[in-house]
Amino acid sequence: MYEYRNGRLLMDGVSLSEIATRHGTPCYVYSRADIESTWRSYDAAFGARAHHVHYAVKANANLAVLQVLARLGSGFDIVSAGELARVLAARGVPSGIVFSGVGKTVADIEAALAADIGTFNIESAAELERLNGVAGRLGCRARIAVRVNPDVDAKTHPYISTGLDENKFGVPMAEALEVYRTAVQRPHLDVVGIACHIGSQLTTLAPFADALTRVMVLVGRLADAGIPLMHVDAGGGLGIRYRDETPPPIADYVGTLCRVIPPAYAIHIEPGRSVVAAAGVLITTVEYLKRTPKRQFAIVDAAMNDLLRPALYAAWHDVQMLEEPPPEVTEARYDLVGPVCESGDFLANDRALRLAPGARLALMCAGAYGHVMASNYNARPRPPEVMVDAGVAHLVRARESIPALYAGETLLPDAP
Ligand SMILES: *Cc1c(COP(=O)(O)O)cnc(C)c1O
Repeated sequence: MYEYRNGRLLMDGVSLSEIATRHGTPCYVYSRADIESTWRSYDAAFGARAHHVHYAVKANANLAVLQVLARLGSGFDIVSAGELARVLAARGVPSGIVFSGVGKTVADIEAALAADIGTFNIESAAELERLNGVAGRLGCRARIAVRVNPDVDAKTHPYISTGLDENKFGVPMAEALEVYRTAVQRPHLDVVGIACHIGSQLTTLAPFADALTRVMVLVGRLADAGIPLMHVDAGGGLGIRYRDETPPPIADYVGTLCRVIPPAYAIHIEPGRSVVAAAGVLITTVEYLKRTPKRQFAIVDAAMNDLLRPALYAAWHDVQMLEEPPPEVTEARYDLVGPVCESGDFLANDRALRLAPGARLALMCAGAYGHVMASNYNARPRPPEVMVDAGVAHLVRARESIPALYAGETLLPDAP
């Protein structure tokens, strides 16, 4: 996917330097080929097993990314009416949509019922009643799965761990049977499955196997109680290699699911990060080099508002040069920081690089939880997004303009 040719870093044969010159920096760049091949690895690993891959939209919600996946036949895991609108705009099929999230509003539910989405993953008894009520009012039925919280430790960063009983997510195992009993009595709900999602960036399979083993015990009890299910949704969460992590191959992950979940049940998964993270980079330009008594800083034109992961989770992104530096530029250890007025505004720390002002860099593996978390902090327009497809770089989201930053704001009336 990446190679250096004539001193330039290429993505799928396209020069990232040229993209930087044409579209400016900071700028996100994605590889269509890489997104496709990862999605296909998931799909192919199931072989003849009944399955459905729902890409988790929150990882990267760009319309072109969703379009590429919709064309492959992917379903989508959404968490808001906004993500629903994005999927529909990208021509995703409504029946392939699953709606996750602990805080679905009445408006969210109305929009999803109007679109006739595939499944609502219910996260509480109160949500169940709300969904039944809204469906009744609209004269329709909703297919539901209950997202249970299996209380396993995903052994990942605490901010992205979701399957412990101290987390806000899912229905506790001990209460799930009762929630299902209620659900089958509600006239506007059809019970179709069960779901769990224990966290993100998991690098071992044991927590997935533990969680699903517990889920299958519950599925057995439900069958005994006369509540048969059609599918088990194992959520997302498979990790990627940012630095030195060694996540299991997709085929091993899918193999584990197929082993723990009996063939009577269709397997649904909701991968996000692992589909898009490695397929994207954030390119940026060095504005200044600055030496303090303790450290050397490379001040770049990207910042925490463009890529929040380092500031939020102390996440590590590899840094590559877009162009080989001239021979006279020597190596030093730099902290890559942005112009935002926060000491937490860093993108990478203590990296050995040969930098001069004007050098252009790529922050690698920035395709997931990158642009979707970008903000306008410090009144900075959000960066553009480019998709490399078959040797051509397509601008798939323009750089935000400065007037757009305050287009929805109004001044108070003039004082009398
Ligand atoms: C975030 C999320 C996912 C995707 O997780 P990744 O780690 O990006 O694969 C899937 N399902 C649910 C319910 C989520 O909240």
